Amino acid sequence: MTHTPKAGLITGITGQDGAYLAKLLLEKGYEVYGLLARRSTDTLWRLRELGIADEVRFIDGDLSDLSSLIRAVESSRADEVYNLGAQSFVGTSWQQPLLTADVDGVGVLRVLEAVRIVNSKARFYQASTSEMFGLIQADRQDESTPFYPRSPYGVAKVMGHWATVNYRESFGLHASSGILFNHESPLRGIEFVTRKVTHAVASIKLGLQKELRLGNIDSQRDWGFAGDYVEAMWLMLQQDKADDYVVATGVTSTVRQMCNIAFEYAGLDLEEHLVIDERFIRPAEVDILLGNPAKAKQKLGWSARTDLKQLIEMMVEADLRRLKS
Ligand code: NDP
Ligand code: GDP
Repeated sequence: MTHTPKAGLITGITGQDGAYLAKLLLEKGYEVYGLLARRSTDTLWRLRELGIADEVRFIDGDLSDLSSLIRAVESSRADEVYNLGAQSFVGTSWQQPLLTADVDGVGVLRVLEAVRIVNSKARFYQASTSEMFGLIQADRQDESTPFYPRSPYGVAKVMGHWATVNYRESFGLHASSGILFNHESPLRGIEFVTRKVTHAVASIKLGLQKELRLGNIDSQRDWGFAGDYVEAMWLMLQQDKADDYVVATGVTSTVRQMCNIAFEYAGLDLEEHLVIDERFIRPAEVDILLGNPAKAKQKLGWSARTDLKQLIEMMVEADLRRLKS
């Protein structure tokens, strides 16, 4: 008996998580479809780095355009829809708050509507974020911790989260929201602090750069590896019942500690190169995030496998390799 492979549709396929998730689904035998928002620059580099650019089927579309999303869910015949597309950088959300609200907030509703209209049996994953906790209301944040977003990005993501919960409760959609804490990798965008640091360390080591300019280095994040985190996304959609899950390592570190790991690994001294630059200080800061992933462990059997030292060293290595070639 032949059996049809499952089809997965990923918005944000050209991003960090999109690339790792596409690889995971391909390894599991899925047909993988990716929504491709037309851009003038090369956005396929991550998929190429993972060697899967030719295996993904692209569908033109944008989270601002409902009809393109309806067509994407229709033509992919997706069994599972992963909504990872977003204006994902907190800093930019103060410069483009309305675009961020439209793509990261209303955009979620558009994908949910496309699923509801085309195939309400398709399973849906929403990429929610620990930024929703913002000004934290509990020392360790879990699924029951109230939200207090601190940026237009966080505000928009709260809308996306509640839209997901609401469509599950209103229409019985199998819609899950993964509240993921910061996760990084060699494929992380260079504007995010970990990658900015590992890229700078590699550049300094090779004599291409002298200083590293940062904003608030006292803030704390619960950083994990994106490759581990996409497995949690997939596991959520394999459950009988849709639900919401915190995905985190359960360990928090300061930006300074993260920098020290990177500099020490390259045999460099952070203090010789670090410059604090007001331009990178944010209008409102999320001082500390620390997740409690107990539910993901218990219900999904998921836990993080990569600690911050392993993660940052992997990123410095990748940046050294890229810059040398
Ligand atoms: P990236 O910034 O690497 O990727 C974002 C993706 O969204 C890109 O593929 C981008 O396309 C796409 N995109 C942006 N705007 C639109 C649009 N209008 N229509 C369609 N696609 C669009 O993010 P990550 O991979 O790191 O994150 C994935 C998701 O998880 C995001 O929703 C993010 O907010 C969320 N998240 C991420 C966390 C993290 O630490 N990484 C933590 C918690 C949540 P293009 O390449 O063309 O710009
Ligand atoms: P975020 O948690 O989604 O905002 O992820 P980022 O990697 O952008 O930022 C993590 C933390 O690093 C935040 O507290 C930032 O204020 C802090 N930070 C300090 N300097 C910088 C910088 O130069 N760039 C970025 N992106 N963040 C910085």
